[in-house]
Amino acid sequence: MSSNKNLLVLPGDGIGPEVINEAKRIVDWMAEKRHFKFNIEEDLVGGACYDVHGSAVTDATMEKAKQADAILLGAVGGPKWDNVERAARPEAGLLRLRKDLDLFANLRPAIVFDALLDASTLKPEVVKGLDIMILRELTAGVYFGEPRGVEVRDGVRYGLDTQIYSEPEIVRIMDVAFDMARKRNGKVTSVEKANVMESGAFWREVATKTHQDGNTDVELNHMYADNCAMQLVRWPGQFDVIVTDNLFGDILSDCAAMLTGSLGMLPSASIGSRDEQTGRIPAMYEPVHGSAPDIAGENKANPLATILSFSMLLRYSFDLGEDADMLDQAVETVLGKGLRTPDIMTDGAQEVSTQGMGEAVVAELDKLA
Ligand code: NAD
Repeated sequence: MSSNKNLLVLPGDGIGPEVINEAKRIVDWMAEKRHFKFNIEEDLVGGACYDVHGSAVTDATMEKAKQADAILLGAVGGPKWDNVERAARPEAGLLRLRKDLDLFANLRPAIVFDALLDASTLKPEVVKGLDIMILRELTAGVYFGEPRGVEVRDGVRYGLDTQIYSEPEIVRIMDVAFDMARKRNGKVTSVEKANVMESGAFWREVATKTHQDGNTDVELNHMYADNCAMQLVRWPGQFDVIVTDNLFGDILSDCAAMLTGSLGMLPSASIGSRDEQTGRIPAMYEPVHGSAPDIAGENKANPLATILSFSMLLRYSFDLGEDADMLDQAVETVLGKGLRTPDIMTDGAQEVSTQGMGEAVVAELDKLA
């Protein structure tokens, strides 16, 4: 197979470059063994970019991001940049990429591999076979709403953020949820706080209307966010696709992370709308975890979330489902053989480094190809 796809790689900070190196090992393997050609560009983002350019992402990098068929990002942030002004902080680079590319749909699968049943803090019978997709709205809501800031009212200082959603913003994320459920187990749970938030009641009304507009082949139910957090740890198997806003999605997907045992196992994809002129659908793939400054540079980070993010990239941006399946299989086999980075270490397993895990996945790919 041969094709030329533009891939922009943004390693970022902390463990970002370490885990990206292991994904690049897979990219190289694919180029050599599957004859799939990627045009790879690598650039700075986050604190690494701030140190060189004084901002968390440059205009030139944003241009490259707009031309790319897909972006693979490591992680950004770290204590070194804690005192940088908010607009130039590492996280601002990530927010700009998401916002300017209008990556409104954030896909966060939470899958429990049989080999890692013991890594979950929940009982094996609660999480066995778990496969949930959390769909988080990513470009609106309280992280972007105006007004925001700190202001003085009658001599008292207030910290202020605004939770706001337009009807089209809710409709388009619900449409993605219904499409995704159709390819899975046909069930969508829409999550908000309709009981205490006006924006929550509005979300529920629009979600119901979007369901009735041609999506009734999929089951829709509604749940309050606090109950959803509880249900995720009580009986996660009840969920198929969970769709929710930016803030609740941020929290609930981290909660779902613990079902799988480690943040180091969780991939994600952020996808936008098709450009009518070029036909391109902007998409960025990244592990859910951050830059883990506590273990950065120690060759201890789990690269599997990034490798599985690359698998999502193959599946959703490059339409290479067969190769993605093979990569997922290689990861499952490596885990089945008892290889573990320290974050998922269990009794009797064999501890490997970041690099060791990447090499083991490539060795399994060699056997599968
Ligand atoms: P974190 O995800 O970086 O780390 C939380 C804990 O999980 C740490 O103990 C860390 O060692 C561990 N961990 C995370 N990824 C791991 C991996 N791949 N393998 C093994 N262990 C792993 O979250 P944090 O500590 O709250 O944040 C650290 C920095 O990362 C902050 O600057 C934060 O703003 C940033 N951050 C960035 C992103 C992103 O780039 N998408 C996401 C979250 C946090």
